[in-house]
Amino acid sequence: CLIPESSSVQSTGRSHVESKWTDTKSYSVKKKLQSWFQLPDGNWELGTILSTSGAEVVISLSGEKILKVNSDDLLPANPDILDGVDDLMQLSYLNEPSVLCNLQYRYNRDMIYTKAGPVLVAINPFKKVPLYGNDFIEAYRVKTTDSPHVYAITDTAMREMIRDEVNQSIIISGESGAGKTETAKIAMQYLAALGGGSGIEYEILKTNPILEAFGNAKTLRNDNSSRFGKLIEIHFSETGKIAGANIQTFLLEKSRVVQCTEGERSYHIFYQLCRGAPKSLREKLYLRNWDEYKYLSQSNCHAISGVDDAEQFRVVQEALDVVHVSKTDQESVFAMLSAVLWLGNISFTVLDNENHVEPVEDEGLVNVATLIGCGIAELKLALSTRKMKVRNDIIVQNLTLSQAIDTRDALAKSIYSCLFDWLVEQINKSLAVGKRRTGRSISILDIYGFESFERNSFEQFCINYANERLQQHFNRHLFKLEQEEYIQDGIDWAKVDFEDNQDCLNLFEKKPLGLLSLLDEESTFPNGTDMTFANKLKQHLKANSCFRGERDNAFSVCHYAGEVTYDTTGFLEKNRDLLHLDSIQLLSSCTCHLPQIFASIMLTQSEKPVVGPLHKSGGVESQKFSVATKFKGQLFQLMHRLENTTPHFIRCIKPNNLQSPGVYDQKLVLQQLRCCGVLEVVRISRSGFPTRMSHQKFARRYGFLLLDHVASQDPLSVSVAILHQFNILPEMYQVGYTKLFFRTGQIGVLEDTRNRTL
Ligand code: ADP
Ligand code: MG
Repeated sequence: CLIPESSSVQSTGRSHVESKWTDTKSYSVKKKLQSWFQLPDGNWELGTILSTSGAEVVISLSGEKILKVNSDDLLPANPDILDGVDDLMQLSYLNEPSVLCNLQYRYNRDMIYTKAGPVLVAINPFKKVPLYGNDFIEAYRVKTTDSPHVYAITDTAMREMIRDEVNQSIIISGESGAGKTETAKIAMQYLAALGGGSGIEYEILKTNPILEAFGNAKTLRNDNSSRFGKLIEIHFSETGKIAGANIQTFLLEKSRVVQCTEGERSYHIFYQLCRGAPKSLREKLYLRNWDEYKYLSQSNCHAISGVDDAEQFRVVQEALDVVHVSKTDQESVFAMLSAVLWLGNISFTVLDNENHVEPVEDEGLVNVATLIGCGIAELKLALSTRKMKVRNDIIVQNLTLSQAIDTRDALAKSIYSCLFDWLVEQINKSLAVGKRRTGRSISILDIYGFESFERNSFEQFCINYANERLQQHFNRHLFKLEQEEYIQDGIDWAKVDFEDNQDCLNLFEKKPLGLLSLLDEESTFPNGTDMTFANKLKQHLKANSCFRGERDNAFSVCHYAGEVTYDTTGFLEKNRDLLHLDSIQLLSSCTCHLPQIFASIMLTQSEKPVVGPLHKSGGVESQKFSVATKFKGQLFQLMHRLENTTPHFIRCIKPNNLQSPGVYDQKLVLQQLRCCGVLEVVRISRSGFPTRMSHQKFARRYGFLLLDHVASQDPLSVSVAILHQFNILPEMYQVGYTKLFFRTGQIGVLEDTRNRTL
């Protein structure tokens, strides 16, 4: 017996290893083989099998630990030659621990990029890694290296754009803090280096500090979290030089302007302005320290370690210069920011026992009126009354305290989001291709990944819906690519069905009984509430397999990445996103220096409704479009644009929640691999023939194992003889014109024999 007398053997009472992804059902556990064993903490450890008897296996783990376990609790490990392979497709055994540990092996060596077939997996290093800069760009350009890298993906996109004359897209996803925005910037750097020359590339790079200042904030998950989605389309001339660019943004989180969670910040630009504005500007715009503003001081967080807001303010001003926002306009932008901050300081006094309020006429109110260019009386009126339509008359209703606060905050949010849109518009004007002739484009999409929190609200609902759409795009293309290679090498190939997410998309999009339609319908009802909405969903969708009603106004959706429970509290209000006519009239009569900003408010109102106008009965409301409908429209337009491109996918992974280098949390990584569909890609690939080896390589590597002489020594004959000798079943491989294609695990058997023989 191999078990030492002292017997450190522990028996594990656990039964089966939970794995969505168990690989080789017929895995036969043999002595000397390396296997994965799951420790009670959920992490996997590599062990060597010492002996087997029936289902009972004795395994030695690191640290001289020896365990007696059930063979069902083991998963096959890959042979050592596959340690740290740069493409997960090369693994013989594609089980969770093998993938996790392969990525970890590379991560520990600063190799943060790994291919998962056609997809690039990028693990956030949370530190500077020596992988970027001109030398690396050059190496990828001239192809002296082919290690997985954002540069390599970007290079492929560039070459395919020129070769195939097809527009390309680089689609980056991952959860907050996983590294999407940094990855997008790295891709932009590569494009700027290869396609630069006209100077426009410099402008393109300078859009990053601007959009980050106005659209990013410190959250609990990421010190520089993007609170909007972004698509940047970079246009190239026929000679491959950058000719211009266009940016589209999605769903900016407006609510952050007026409230944010403890420990988080509002948008960077507010702190930058408060800390970095020179004295003259401070005086002109009535600026104070950040702690004098309620909107900024409420969350008890104002600084980010390692970030100098004052310095960043200068960087942003410089960037604004580069994209041709004049100094006068810049000052107007800062004036609007100051107005937003002062709005937050406006307070109300309750006038009488009727619960009516009036704004306090203090410096806050006066400053806002001065900054946006309206009369104090008009501002007071807009913040404390609302015009109501009763039959054909318009009557004026006084607001209660909470209505007045909501009105004030809605005004602040509107001004900020209009300012953001205006800036994007200015950037686009500056980057416009204009009359320069263009050839093709590469688009880079940096969009929030799938989110599943303890409590999920309207924001997660929209974000996850977007991810369902993107996942469908992902599936379709990966299948197509996969199958094209088989066809090219002439192998038999029966089309593989895949788990597509059309049912879930239908749950969202079906009319009239889908989540979005029902939400819009309820949002237009005068008496609609979050509760009536939840009940309506339960009533109409209970038969849908992707839907489940939950207690307390909640419902669950079976997303491709897992089930998410949404709490409908606030859904209707967030979807309506109303700005009262009074506020609109106020803004449109303002004489501020940036009238175009408010022009866009008026523009929103004149858009044609898609699902019918949203009015609350009796109220004179503004918003014609619900937020969800507008977002759906944007998504459809996005998908349409992406459909006409060759996609390249990058999945970013966050290795820990501490934003620290060197910490690799297996469970966290695994959960993301599942969510962002990496496991799915591998699963899809497994149903095909993921292992490929040329006839030559195969014959060279395993030929010496042949027991009988083979008449013909050509690589194909030798290969076929090996396959026969090892009894590899015909359904387990295919012989192509140039390569042998194997199902998962097949090469592993040969490799093990080879190692035992050598
Ligand atoms: P996301 O956009 O996915 O929310 P970010 O791109 O903002 O995440 O990344 C979060 C942080 O992680 C960055 O601010 C940076 O500190 C770090 N980071 C991400 N990618 C890299 C990288 N390739 N090299 C070094 N640090 C990185
Ligand atoms: Mg980001």
